[in-house]
Amino acid sequence: MKIVITKLVFLIALLLNSQALAQIAPEDFVADFESGNAANVQQVGADSFTFEIRLDSGALEIYGWYYFAIVGNSGRTATLFLTNPDGWQNETCKPLFSNNNQHWERVADVWREGSMIGFRQYLGADTVWLAQGFPFTVTQMYAYLDTMGSSPHLQRETLGYSIHGRPIDMVTITEDDWPDERKKTVWLISRQHPMESSPTFLLKGLLDWVLEDPEFSPFWQKDVVLKVVPIVNVDGVAEGYSRHNVSGINLNRDWQEDIQAEQPEVRAVHQAIYDHLTSGHSIDFFMDLHAAPDNYDFGYRMSSVYTDSNYFQNQETFLYLLETHDPWQSRTRWRELDTSYALGVSCVTLYDMYDLDTYSSENPWTRREDNSFITAEGFYQQGPAWGRAIYDYLYPLTIYDTLDARIDSILPGEPFVPEVRDFDQRNKDSLVITAYCRESSDSELVILYREDDGGLFSPSHPVPTDESLGSPGDGTVSLVPWGELVVSYVDPDMPSRTCRRILEVDSTGSYIGGDANGDGLIDVADVTYLINYLFISGSAPDPLWVGDCNCDQVVDVADVMYLINYLFLGGSPPGC
Ligand SMILES: [Zn+2]
Repeated sequence: MKIVITKLVFLIALLLNSQALAQIAPEDFVADFESGNAANVQQVGADSFTFEIRLDSGALEIYGWYYFAIVGNSGRTATLFLTNPDGWQNETCKPLFSNNNQHWERVADVWREGSMIGFRQYLGADTVWLAQGFPFTVTQMYAYLDTMGSSPHLQRETLGYSIHGRPIDMVTITEDDWPDERKKTVWLISRQHPMESSPTFLLKGLLDWVLEDPEFSPFWQKDVVLKVVPIVNVDGVAEGYSRHNVSGINLNRDWQEDIQAEQPEVRAVHQAIYDHLTSGHSIDFFMDLHAAPDNYDFGYRMSSVYTDSNYFQNQETFLYLLETHDPWQSRTRWRELDTSYALGVSCVTLYDMYDLDTYSSENPWTRREDNSFITAEGFYQQGPAWGRAIYDYLYPLTIYDTLDARIDSILPGEPFVPEVRDFDQRNKDSLVITAYCRESSDSELVILYREDDGGLFSPSHPVPTDESLGSPGDGTVSLVPWGELVVSYVDPDMPSRTCRRILEVDSTGSYIGGDANGDGLIDVADVTYLINYLFISGSAPDPLWVGDCNCDQVVDVADVMYLINYLFLGGSPPGC
């Protein structure tokens, strides 16, 4: 027994000793797995190594992707130096580490050392992975698409093959029982640039939402044919590239009028778009998702050099909706593509060839605008927000004034509280509002009511929605500035959430700004009327805003002065 114990103690001592003596060796670095990238690992000290990013073959421009593991060194601390960071990378772009290749955290200890970026990480598991961005491989994506296969409204097809023979898959999600000609088509592509993995999580969030959200899924699937090519550059992603395909071509500059001249990855997607459009289908929303090193979320749009006013208005509308749903997006962060930059970019080529108003997004690689670090979960959670924005863009309930200026859009199932943005309406006294729903043949009623006394619309009770009318009718309301309005559907045959929510507003009016006493004339009697109202408890102008002669949204003595100035001293006429 004594001998056994002695042996055991000896063995334990040996083990502890070898553990203490063993150091991380260059061969403990592994990157020969999917999406892996690390090269030229050199030991420069105890547990200290330099490594470099293997550049995309045939291309030396922007790069940054690395992803590797250190195996068999649990309990040690590795000190690493990236010797060839691209210009956008610095010590604030903290690398990611993972003890299970699934859950990622930021390396805390990062510094700049000459031209290198140094970082130090305790190895808390036998295998620890390190990466520049959240890995999302082709295998992971296609395994995810496999799990979606059980959905009855999902089709998956291979559009073509990459140079190295990998399938480029697309999923189409829509409710088959609902005729396609009543739907709009949304087409999303991503990962032309392999390292730009963050939007892949967003796409997954959007797909899950479209398939599973109990509230919106049926709604979306009836109205939308969703086509998603989640990874265009399948070779690049699988082989750990940063920005090119395996021929060294930047696919996002390879979109051409001659489809056959394109790289196989672009050609496969472009051909599918071409086939879709030339077989009589439309593409109503197209977006190419990217990521960028900047600290904030933004996108690109074409400059006015290329485009017409419709394009610009559509971009503004979508960005407005995106801002509404996703706090990370900002219209001021969307940049214009100029002629020198844009050659071969998908959105320019698709616009030129097919008149498609396309969208191009950029989400950050590392940090948000407030300098917080991005998380994969954060991007995943943006997916539903983007779905909402796209849906609202396609099927808005939008109120326009008679000059065709958009007042606001009503979001699905939400109360509507517009602001008055165009005071031309103030010369009008009524709105006729009709909502059309494609699931019923008639027009639909909406209730309009004010939120406060200074309401934009009056009366302050619901407009006639009387079911005794026998059928849904139109609502007519008077219009007074400065207020708020809430709209909700009441017609029982209006299926909730499944309507093409078009609200047409026709306003006609007879009130005249400055005609305070409402006799149809602007004269000295209006001055008297206003003075009576303001100082001698006389009746208020009806509606009140006709007394707002100088358009400052209050009725006060300045309006009296304004009116006198107009009538007797040649000043500007009242009204807005
Ligand atoms: Zn990109």
